[in-house]
Amino acid sequence: MTIDQIAAKVRAGERVAADEALELYRRAPTALLGRLADSVRARKHPGGLVTYIIDRNVNYTNVCVAKCNFCAFYRPVGSAEGYVLGFDEIFTKIDETIAVGGVQLLLQGGHNPDLPLSWYEDLFRAVKARYPTFKLHALSPPEVIHISRLSQLPVATVIDRLIAAGLDSVPGGGAEILVDRVRKLLHCYGKATADEWLDVMRHAHRAGLRTTATMMYGTVETDEERLEHLLRLRALQEETGGFTAFITWSYQPDHTELAGSEATGIDYLRTLALARIVLDNFDNLQASWVTQGGKVGQLSLAFGANDMGSVMIEENVVRAAGASYCMDEVEIVRNIEDAGFVAKRRNMHYEILGDPIFREREVPRMLELATARADGDQTVPEELRLYPARSRTAKQERRQEN
Ligand code: SF4
Repeated sequence: MTIDQIAAKVRAGERVAADEALELYRRAPTALLGRLADSVRARKHPGGLVTYIIDRNVNYTNVCVAKCNFCAFYRPVGSAEGYVLGFDEIFTKIDETIAVGGVQLLLQGGHNPDLPLSWYEDLFRAVKARYPTFKLHALSPPEVIHISRLSQLPVATVIDRLIAAGLDSVPGGGAEILVDRVRKLLHCYGKATADEWLDVMRHAHRAGLRTTATMMYGTVETDEERLEHLLRLRALQEETGGFTAFITWSYQPDHTELAGSEATGIDYLRTLALARIVLDNFDNLQASWVTQGGKVGQLSLAFGANDMGSVMIEENVVRAAGASYCMDEVEIVRNIEDAGFVAKRRNMHYEILGDPIFREREVPRMLELATARADGDQTVPEELRLYPARSRTAKQERRQEN
């Protein structure tokens, strides 16, 4: 099929096959790819609405045994730079989030062997007791698998227990590329195979949760593997309908073991447009301005994105790999409106909550990103002592304390 014939299929709302999608990605002019993705966005979101959410991206621990080679965020067990946030620190972050109109935490962290399932359950219950309507978009599939292995309980049981404690939604992190050849090369096959990642989402959807899906591209994958990732997500969405949104970003190489260079802005826009065309059963695509910067983030709205993601109050993971972009609500709305769209606040289910909150009441500007912990803060939360230590380092520390 020629590019024109495939483009006609997309305009007619027909599903594209793998070889057609690959042909578009490799050979269609960038402007055409953008126009096609934009036509799909406009069909799904008439009226020019572009949404965003006010939430906070909190990383409860940076201690991780997975050691993915593309990650600059984690610290090994026993590292002086390792941390676990205390429940009180997390409550303070929620208070600050609510003060700027926030409605949820995106809560993710490393695979810390000293945090058992009961730590997560106690945290979620404590959050819900204090903030009954505040939402927890928490624990990506590899974290759920890690907790399942630690507790020797099936994934479905772990999800049910986390839901009972207050889990509202599962973020789609840790997907990287859902092809096991790539996962082995990125040292993330052990934390979750492609099937295991998808299976956590399948269980979460069956348990009634809505979740997101992500893709980190630009490491060692081929074009075909990038596409296979999208096709696997499309197939699971066909089966469960549980994904609310898709977010893609490029690998951030600074301070990582894998190193290398970052994909370009054009590759990002082409990949985003391809995703919009292939993921015809996903309603929402986010712009990843956190990795691409505000200007490419704004351009994403012409390449298939209909959502600007989250107001950034705190960021730790991407910053560790060298990128540190900050936009508060005023900036996000300025970018949306300047691109010709209507800005609306939403919740995790992409339901419209209203107009920008700063137009309704005074909210503090957030022009600098907060971090999980101040540099050099090595305090250990009091409540951690309530949970049995599992790592050798933590056991030794407990013995020295006693
Ligand atoms: S990407 Fe996540 S699982 Fe992998 S090393 Fe970093 S924190 Fe650990």
